[in-house]
Amino acid sequence: MIGEDKICAVVAASDAGSMLRQLMLAEKKARTIELRLDWLANDQEISLFLARLADRRHKATLLATCRRRIAGGRYRGSIAKQLVHLADAIRAGCAWYDLEIETAAICPPELIQVLLGEGRQLVSAHFFKGMPPKLPALARRLEHRKPDAIKIAARTDSLRDCQTLAKFGHGRRNTIVIPMGDIALPARILSLSEPNGFAYAPVENATASGQISLEDIYGIYRADRVSRATRIYGVIGNPIGHSLSPQQLNAAFAAREIDAIYLPFLVEDLADFVGSIAPMGIRGFSVTIPHKERIIKYLDRCDPLAERIGAVNTVAVLGAGKLYGYNTDYIGVLEALKSRVRLHGSRVLIVGAGGAARAVAFALAQAGAAVCISARRQKKAQAIANAVRGSLVHWGRLRQEFFDAIVNATPVGMYPFEDQSPLEANDLNCRLVFDTIYRPRKTKLLQLAERRGIETVSGVEMFVAQGAAQFEIWTGQPAPAGQMRRAVLDALQREERMREAK
Ligand code: NAP
Repeated sequence: MIGEDKICAVVAASDAGSMLRQLMLAEKKARTIELRLDWLANDQEISLFLARLADRRHKATLLATCRRRIAGGRYRGSIAKQLVHLADAIRAGCAWYDLEIETAAICPPELIQVLLGEGRQLVSAHFFKGMPPKLPALARRLEHRKPDAIKIAARTDSLRDCQTLAKFGHGRRNTIVIPMGDIALPARILSLSEPNGFAYAPVENATASGQISLEDIYGIYRADRVSRATRIYGVIGNPIGHSLSPQQLNAAFAAREIDAIYLPFLVEDLADFVGSIAPMGIRGFSVTIPHKERIIKYLDRCDPLAERIGAVNTVAVLGAGKLYGYNTDYIGVLEALKSRVRLHGSRVLIVGAGGAARAVAFALAQAGAAVCISARRQKKAQAIANAVRGSLVHWGRLRQEFFDAIVNATPVGMYPFEDQSPLEANDLNCRLVFDTIYRPRKTKLLQLAERRGIETVSGVEMFVAQGAAQFEIWTGQPAPAGQMRRAVLDALQREERMREAK
């Protein structure tokens, strides 16, 4: 509709030099680019940028936006100056301009024709607090002066809102609908499967919530190849922004050349998500905190072991929309340990008594290990010990005990508390230490163990193995574990480099 690509790179910076630098980065990937003139610090900076823009040859279709504050933008000047900037932008090579309804409605059409007649007009309306009540009436209002296209962007607070917006917009001529908010991220990507789907992807600075960066939209999601045939998977959790499962599972689908996409769903209301599985065509999903236990009541069938563990981290959507739950954390633990410790007949200590500890305890008990639990809440630890016929070890007695392996199943040591360890060096009387935490790769606990010459296993191993088991459940194909590990390690290394650079 606007330019050749459905993915529109967004260039937004406060000075002309940064705008140009971002524009050059955008041009490497995108053929449709929005220039957010309103992000520039003042009128002089806008004029400077547009003068430099006019000197360049353009490789992409450019869309100029100088949105006023009243419409959610940053431009503080008058309407007259806004129109002059847009006119300059058209002269500098922008084929399109975005005019918010707040300006379009009060400007005489003749004035807009004289100043901006050479450009193509996108009239936009933004709703930052929630969905507009009457979409058809709103669209008619936007179309009143016959623009070339209209855009409705609205904050969506549920997946149901996202579907309402999508249903209205998709298939409607010259209409762009954009769901905003963190819940909307999957809907933004999935809209690209529609003929008039359109997604804004910032080069550096997000200009609305729920946007996915240009780098990630191509790099992680390969969203440019999403079609109606693409199989949809995802992970549900709250929060979900830091999950590395999208990197891992999308890399797996790419490696096996499967037309599928894996998306992060921020789920506050589980019923809303479950109600969206069929309309969105979701074929399977991973489950993370805080939904691993709560999801069980929505399942049609649950793997007996997952039921005994009391936690489900994988759901397959089978024929007729039936939900079948599994626990692959359990498989992840065994895969991480089996080549390093002979579990049968070994004595293993688990530190912590939450959901991960339960999965670890069942896995180890099933493999024939004698399971010991140590946790700050005796009651929870006792419940796990009872379930796997294990025993409790009091925290204060750890130094007098020996274990073949110690497993940390608490979040102590996880970013941003990476300088903490659940145990001290003298507590580590064992041959191997396994930390279920994978961020950072080398936790304080693993560093202490290494210093004592004890073999260590990072949570990355479990994370990759539980993800590989999910892939196999959903696709019936062997998982490309090597590529999945690479994707996770690359993402973790990138994060570490960014943290160091700060
Ligand atoms: P959870 O259900 O919240 O349980 C956490 C456990 O740690 C609870 O027993 C909690 O005790 C205990 N704990 C928390 N802070 C503590 C502290 N300061 N000192 C002592 N104990 C403390 O969480 P979860 O789902 O089991 O997850 C635990 C860890 O497993 C996380 O770090 C997660 O990254 C990791 N995990 C890794 C993978 C993987 O694939 N690598 C998969 C799943 C989980 P209270 O009950 O007293 O609060």
